[in-house]
Amino acid sequence: MTRGEKGLEKSVASKSLEMENTKKQGNLPNPLILQSEELYEYILATSVYPREPEPLKELRKATAPQPLAYFGTSPDAGQLIAMFLKIVNAKKTIEIGVFTGYSLLLTALTIPDDGKITAIDVDRTKYEIGLPIIQKAGVEHKINFIESRALPVLDELLQDPKNEGSFDFAFVDADKVNYWNYLERMMKLVKVGGIIIYDNTLWGGYVALPEEDVPEKKRAWRQSTIEFNNSISSDSRVEISHASVGDGVLICRRIC
Ligand code: SAH
Ligand code: CA
Repeated sequence: MTRGEKGLEKSVASKSLEMENTKKQGNLPNPLILQSEELYEYILATSVYPREPEPLKELRKATAPQPLAYFGTSPDAGQLIAMFLKIVNAKKTIEIGVFTGYSLLLTALTIPDDGKITAIDVDRTKYEIGLPIIQKAGVEHKINFIESRALPVLDELLQDPKNEGSFDFAFVDADKVNYWNYLERMMKLVKVGGIIIYDNTLWGGYVALPEEDVPEKKRAWRQSTIEFNNSISSDSRVEISHASVGDGVLICRRIC
C-alpha cells in the first residue's frame, strides 16, 4: 500500500467514525430524505418541470436520443444554478463542458441581455445540436463558444490581467481529473464573492462506496472526485456547500 493509499484509508476510517457520531447525535434525517426515485420524480414534477423554461424543455428533448444524453445537466441542478446566477447578479460567466448546451442555455436565459458567457468544449458537434434552440430563444449573442480543451483557454485568459477577478460565476462540468487545476485558475478568474459550481461531485454515489464495489472503468474518476472533494473541504479560500441535487453539485464561493 502506498503512502497516498494509507492516507486515504485513514481519512476514510476517520470519516466513518464521524459518520457514527453523526448517527449517535441524531444529526441524520431519519429516514434519509432521498429514499426513492418516486421522491426525486416528485421534486421534478412539483417544483422543477412546471417552472422549466420552454427552450430548456425543447433542448432536453433534442438531447434525449443522444447516446450520452445523461451528460446533460439535470433540471433540478439547473434550477439551483439559475438561482445562484440570479443571487450574484451574474453578468459575465464561464462554463467548462457544454455538450448539447443545457447548462449553457440555462445561463444564457438567466443573465441580462448584455451578459456574456465564455463556453468551452473540446467538441463543437454536440453544441450544434442545441444551437438552433439557443438561436430561436434569442440568446446566442451572449455566448462565446470556444472549441478547445479548457486548460489552455483558461491560461490564455489569465495572460490578460483585465480578466482577473472579472467573472461573476463559473460552472465546471468536464474532465473531472482536472477539477483541481480548474479551481486554481478559477480562483484568479472569478471575483471575490463570485460563485464556482462543480458538477458530478457525488459521482453517482460512488464516492461513498469502497473501490471494489465500483465498476473498474469508473474508478479513476471516483478517485479524482474523492481527492478533489477532500482538497476543497480544507481550502480556506472558499466557502462551500455540497448539495445532493442531480449528480451532486459542489458550490464554492470565493472569499479571498
Ligand atoms: N454542461 C453540459 C454537460 C457537459 S458533459 C450540459 O448541461 O449538457 C461534458 C462535456 O465536456 C462534453 O461535451 C465533453 O466534450 C467536454 N470535455 C471533456 N473534456 C474536456 C476538456 N478537457 N476541456 C473542455 N471540454 C471537455
Ligand atoms: Ca455534468
